[in-house]
Amino acid sequence: MFDLKDLYQEVIVDHNRSPRNFHGMEDANRTAEGFNPLCGDRLTLYMRINDQGVIEDVSFEGAGCAISTASASLMTEQLKGKTEAEAQSLFNGFHDMVISDVNTPVDDAAMGKLSALAGVREFPSRVKCASLCWHTMTAALANTDETVKTE
Ligand code: ZN
Repeated sequence: MFDLKDLYQEVIVDHNRSPRNFHGMEDANRTAEGFNPLCGDRLTLYMRINDQGVIEDVSFEGAGCAISTASASLMTEQLKGKTEAEAQSLFNGFHDMVISDVNTPVDDAAMGKLSALAGVREFPSRVKCASLCWHTMTAALANTDETVKTE
């Protein structure tokens, strides 16, 4: 079982128990599906992006483990109001964080609440759970129709 030892655990538990922006979106202009066969996590991501390329709204639906749900919830909170470029750059920072060595200090200033997911570094199989929503976001921005798979 996944065991987070520090204060980060609280954020994960909270966002898993009551995920933010957990609903469909009728006027979404970008959607993508994500699937992590290793764990069984599935999610559909919805985004509404305006003419200036700013993410006005983002939400998700699906079913998955605590890490995938909490990660998607935290991600949607961070993406609102960001440009597509800023969203990609946040993903790059997040990705660098979750694949970094366990002893690498986390850049809390840049990652904000997303740093709660740094705990997955100790559990390599969980990195896919945590990054599924981000890969799905990339697909939504690119407007691809194929389901994103982490495998
Ligand atoms: Zn999972």
